[in-house]
Amino acid sequence: MKRIVIKIGTATLCPDDGLDIIFLDDIARQVKYLKEIGISTVIVTSGAIGLGMSMLRDINKNLNLIQKQALAAVGQGKLINYYSTVFERYGLMVAQILLTREDLANRKRFLNARNTLEELIKLGIIPVINENDTVATEEIKLGDNDQLSALVSTLIDSDLLTILSNVNGLYDKDPHLYKDAKLIKEIRSFDEIPKDIGGPSEKGSGGMITKILAVEIAARSNIKTIIASGREKDVLIKIINGESVGTLFDIGGERLSKRKVWIAYGVTPKGKIYIDQGAYEALAFRNKSLLSQGVKEIDGNFSSGDAVSIISPGGKEFARGIVYYPSDELEELKGKKGYHEVVHRDNLVLLY
Ligand code: GLU
Repeated sequence: MKRIVIKIGTATLCPDDGLDIIFLDDIARQVKYLKEIGISTVIVTSGAIGLGMSMLRDINKNLNLIQKQALAAVGQGKLINYYSTVFERYGLMVAQILLTREDLANRKRFLNARNTLEELIKLGIIPVINENDTVATEEIKLGDNDQLSALVSTLIDSDLLTILSNVNGLYDKDPHLYKDAKLIKEIRSFDEIPKDIGGPSEKGSGGMITKILAVEIAARSNIKTIIASGREKDVLIKIINGESVGTLFDIGGERLSKRKVWIAYGVTPKGKIYIDQGAYEALAFRNKSLLSQGVKEIDGNFSSGDAVSIISPGGKEFARGIVYYPSDELEELKGKKGYHEVVHRDNLVLLY
């Protein structure tokens, strides 16, 4: 193993009021160990909003997006300051990187981000990444740092994504509701993931659902994921030594090219295309392109080259693709026979 991405959530980093320095110190110690045995670490960290909140104590906790952005601007400086001070104790240097979905969807910026990360890794510096909350509007928001950590893993061809959480891993049922819920040690296919996995955690924005999406993104780029408790002693060292901690997701199945990962997960769909049963079967089972005659309805305003969601007759988003026709032209073409290719197979990805 050469590279590892570690995602640290707000509830893990700031369990009470403010940041848990002992926890962060322990992470730094382990990252140092990894470095010594030749493994480069990239960290994706939350906590900017949480820290901003603990600094401005009397602020109302029901925040709108702009208030959150303001708090993130307050907390991010503090956050990176903690990281650089604590990591310095171990002789480690950190670098702050703030990203939005736009940075990752735009080819030029994407390459720039990748080059910068590669350079930092080469210099032995630990990149500490967060979403650039201050500028991220709803459309360009990555949604949560679970997704960001998976996209970063594909960006730098990480060998492993480790999501450190305040839960021990994935359980066979929601452990908040059921006392007898059992930890699952290993998942080898998406079918093995239980349906009832619980909602978002109280402090963080994610919860298990967004973590599973991160697992999906990583798996399709051939990257394994481990979800484990950040509180487990020597968690990173145990993982590297192959000990069983948390839940390992080692999922087989179709791998996607980097380009297809971006089509499916990197860009926000601009609209929806509802299709009929025939088209659904052609796309889902016969590896075909989407033609105009299978299109039933269109939702949203998109241009040629935008990403769109493709919706099955059952109402489920089952694929994403890059659309050839703008929405107004497609409105005219929908249901029409003739060879109007709406989404070419090479620009289409089936979701799990
Ligand atoms: N970027 C946010 C923060 O630093 C966290 C988002 C998330 O945890 O998903 O506060």
